Amino acid sequence: MGQKPDTSGSAPRRVIVLGGGLAGLSASRALVERGYGVTLIEKRPFLGGRAFSFQDQQAGVQVDNGQHVFLGCCTYYIDFLEALGVTEHAFLQDTLRTEVIRNGKRGVLFSTPWLGPLHLLPSFLLYPHLSLRDKLLAAYGLARAKLTDRARQAGALDRETLYQWLRRHHQSERAIDYLWNLIVLPTLNDHVRDVSADMGLMVFQEGLLKGPKDATVGFSRIGLTELTGAPAGRFLQEHGATVETGKSVEALQFEDGSVAGVRLSDGALLHADAYVSALPYDVFLSLLPADVAGDGFFAKAAGLTSSPIVGVHLWYDRPIMEQDFVAFLDSPVQWVFNKSRIQGSNDAGQQYVCVSVSGAWDYIDMPKDQLRELFAREMQTLFPRAREAKIDRFLVVKQPQATFRSIPGASVHRPSQRTPIANLFLAGDWTATGWPSTMEGAVRSGVFAAEALDSGA
Ligand SMILES: Cc1cc2nc3c(=O)[nH]c(=O)nc-3n(C[C@H](O)[C@H](O)[C@H](O)COP(=O)(O)OP(=O)(O)OC[C@H]3O[C@@H](n4cnc5c(N)ncnc54)[C@H](O)[C@@H]3O)c2cc1C
Repeated sequence: MGQKPDTSGSAPRRVIVLGGGLAGLSASRALVERGYGVTLIEKRPFLGGRAFSFQDQQAGVQVDNGQHVFLGCCTYYIDFLEALGVTEHAFLQDTLRTEVIRNGKRGVLFSTPWLGPLHLLPSFLLYPHLSLRDKLLAAYGLARAKLTDRARQAGALDRETLYQWLRRHHQSERAIDYLWNLIVLPTLNDHVRDVSADMGLMVFQEGLLKGPKDATVGFSRIGLTELTGAPAGRFLQEHGATVETGKSVEALQFEDGSVAGVRLSDGALLHADAYVSALPYDVFLSLLPADVAGDGFFAKAAGLTSSPIVGVHLWYDRPIMEQDFVAFLDSPVQWVFNKSRIQGSNDAGQQYVCVSVSGAWDYIDMPKDQLRELFAREMQTLFPRAREAKIDRFLVVKQPQATFRSIPGASVHRPSQRTPIANLFLAGDWTATGWPSTMEGAVRSGVFAAEALDSGA
């Protein structure tokens, strides 16, 4: 890799992929499957990027950097899991079913499989958190969401917030908070009042209003690094790729208008025929020479912003919940995941639960002691059995830049995978995938980058 590439022979063309998050791993997978020689460079000692886990020594289990959920509509991500041979370690519901609790009152959103796109209708009619009037208007809003031609109205929908769109379509504040935001906040990591109408409607069109299979909820049964990062590294090596972890890219070097090489933190200079950057947008921009970074195509990515997620992990000395997961309305506790059950722990005594707080602006700077007091108290309110239970361990994982924000205008800051530089391609959830900041978006971006590279080869 230290030599400039010889492209004259029949050897597979060489590609350097920068960044070993899901986008870089997906791009690498798609490239090795097309016969390219791939070198993947990842700064951290492990692969998986923002979807990773670590061993909590005190609790003796793998803890994710944040609860990651996928839906049945995440077809590229599911295909990625299948290629890695890890689907047995992921859970995906047969049909959607989730409890939604407010002030102790329990509602259930569930699919009725034979109703096609109307699969949520029966559960919606029974949903106790909306009045009949709210429900009728919400049914109208959902129908309009389903029928909106997003491609034709993309510009207009990207200029307004979903909240504005919902108010224009006669949605009550209650329906916005107890139905629309219930879905939008965890999927877009932002409030319905902040996300663009386009991305908000996308979530409903792709996830909830297509068919019952698309709406099913899935998650890993093991630590995220064990589910994707580590197996992807093995997959790539088995397919002839070189995987370099613990090496940071320090600069992209240009000659005659194309990328000539990448300089690493250890001083090495690597060359290839083509380069795929799957780095975070701010890192990518900082590695470009000033004249390239200033080019409008790349510079626009500087307009992206991000939103935080806080994960509150609690180990109780006894079981406090029975469900796999449950959502709460009007509480700082948005979604609670029963990690003991999900991970198949046999320990009948202790129970490990994770509270996932999206759009966590109010909590990201809060000291740990304050978070403990707030969430431990709130959990006692929500789960009667937590009142008697002792917390054996408390852990907070803060991810200030968890996801890029899908706010109005954000889409213009997302460049395509093909760039004006002939041998440079982009991947990353933040590139133009049509999807929000998700594992599905990241995996898609990698496939699209590989396709763009391959089609120009
Ligand atoms: C707490 C949390 C919860 C989330 N929940 C969900 C969820 O429920 N569902 C869902 O679908 N998505 C979720 N996401 C989003 C999802 O994790 C991301 O969209 C996805 O992992 C992004 O992948 P990526 O490859 O595009 O970017 P990244 O994962 O950021 O990958 C970029 C890679 O580049 C590496 N890198 C950086 N600088 C350098 C350098 N100089 N040289 C070499 N390498 C470098 C980084 O270490 C990283 O591995 C969540 C994210 C977080 C943080």
